Amino acid sequence: MYRTHNCGELRIEDLGNEVILSGWVQKGRDLGGLTFVDLRDRYGITQLVFNVEENKKLTEQARTLAREFVIKATGFVRERSSKNPNRATGDIEIEVTNLQILNASKTPPFTIENQTDGGEELRMKYRYLDLRRSNIQQNLIFRSQLALRTRNYLSQNGFIEVETPNLIKSTPEGARDFVVPSRMNPGEFYALPQSPQTFKQILMVAGLDKYFQIVKCFRDEDLRADRQPEFTQIDCEMSFVTRDQILDQFEGLTKHLFKFMLNISLPDFPKMSYDEAMERYGSDKPDTRFEMEFIAFTEIVKGHGFPVFDSAEYIAGICVSGEAENYSNKQIKELTEWLQRPQIGCKGMIYVKYNIDGSIKSSVGKFYSDEQLNSWFKIANAKPGDMLLMLCGETEKTRKQLCELRLEMGRRLELMDPSKFNALWIVDFPLLEWDEDSERFHAMHHPFTSPKKEDVDRMLAGDHETMKALRADAYDLVINGSEIGGGSIRIHDRALQQRNFDLLGFTREEAENQFGFLMGAFEYGAPPHGGIAFGFDRLNAVMNGQNSIRDFIAFPKNTSGRDIMIDAPSKVDITQLDELNLALKNIPE
Ligand code: ASP
Repeated sequence: MYRTHNCGELRIEDLGNEVILSGWVQKGRDLGGLTFVDLRDRYGITQLVFNVEENKKLTEQARTLAREFVIKATGFVRERSSKNPNRATGDIEIEVTNLQILNASKTPPFTIENQTDGGEELRMKYRYLDLRRSNIQQNLIFRSQLALRTRNYLSQNGFIEVETPNLIKSTPEGARDFVVPSRMNPGEFYALPQSPQTFKQILMVAGLDKYFQIVKCFRDEDLRADRQPEFTQIDCEMSFVTRDQILDQFEGLTKHLFKFMLNISLPDFPKMSYDEAMERYGSDKPDTRFEMEFIAFTEIVKGHGFPVFDSAEYIAGICVSGEAENYSNKQIKELTEWLQRPQIGCKGMIYVKYNIDGSIKSSVGKFYSDEQLNSWFKIANAKPGDMLLMLCGETEKTRKQLCELRLEMGRRLELMDPSKFNALWIVDFPLLEWDEDSERFHAMHHPFTSPKKEDVDRMLAGDHETMKALRADAYDLVINGSEIGGGSIRIHDRALQQRNFDLLGFTREEAENQFGFLMGAFEYGAPPHGGIAFGFDRLNAVMNGQNSIRDFIAFPKNTSGRDIMIDAPSKVDITQLDELNLALKNIPE
């Protein structure tokens, strides 16, 4: 027998019992007559003690142990003389009578502690050691619980889990596909699903009514901290539903998960239109934990001889509470330079400080009277001590930049309370986005998203300009500035779907080739349907107040899309390429 108990469960009530524990050596301490060893497993740490006077040989054996050795110890539970209140097993220790080394270990390249000294590269290369750290194990335990809770909730609400294939044809979600060559069909390729979108719609046509799946999706795109080439979604679809029924159902799921996992009761989620979110926050995923909303200045500041404003399409600002006298010229300069970095690309920033004594200091004082500046404060609801920061330029670009500035000020002033969770729905997205470079429309969500009912006729018959104004029956769930999920009511009518493909620049042939099966299915009694998908990795990270999803994924890829533990991707043998008809000699001239 390897163990009678795990390393996290013995308590004072177990005093005197003989027990067997197995685990990893966290660390050892030699205090002359006594040798202590901390023994660790997934459940916790228990202190082992060896007394040189009572058992010299055993103590000497204990002194040979090093970090990460795997051992089995038999002994008696006794009360500790100096207790450790920070540890669940901190009242007891094991007086060891027998010790067995099950496996030795090389010295690990970084410390197996929550605060490790290992850098990202090293941790990923030795992920099996990294995964021994308690905080990462807690993340994976959280994730497992969250998946279980999700399954229970959705199943109790009548959803059935259906698996959809991984070797498919492209499903466009706006990224590149990963492709897999088919050996049996020379020259042909599968695509890995960017999502199960078309399959879940087919399941609705098939009458499955309520579907869900916790499913891997694959997107070949440039990586960021919150992106991985393969990631997991809670994917759902429902038939005979309105938008609000879908939102209610998934607001219900979200509240349930927060209550069960964190004991937090979330209030009802407000709904905000895309347009309103862009006007107030310059973003379709606003962090609403703090205010500092955009103040529109375009109308009132133009036409007073300040050329930068006079030539701008859009002028807006934020009011930073109580910082007028804290922010020095040097800090303003540094903030301006931060905005001028190529990632953000501002030309400059205008500030207006409303000092406590009522005096005003501003970079545009030459062009505007105090009376005018005071009227700006009024619009901004500014109090003495506040400071306005303003940007101007082309509307869309400036909104993005001001959004970055707002978030940066939120970070600097620590306004993003990590214990607060602000959830909201963003609704009424544009259906199509015009791309100047390719001179094409793109689907803002994906090509299967329906326009709002009132826009259907305009979509079928309208001109180019009309298309830009169409609204989609699409929605996103946003929590603390992170997009947790998104979905839409779908098109379920062949003619409308065809029209959408036309608008998106697919030839009839291309549309038929790629999505003929779906449009065909629409001709056999497709019910009205809609759905949503949550980013499961991100939901885990956000619920734990963390930015990176990597530590909620057991084996993530790095920012170049590599798994450095197994060293993938890697070259394959020429014979393998040959079998797949990919060897150079097989490729026709
Ligand atoms: N398939 C969509 C996505 O991956 C979600 C949905 O529309 O249900 O974003």
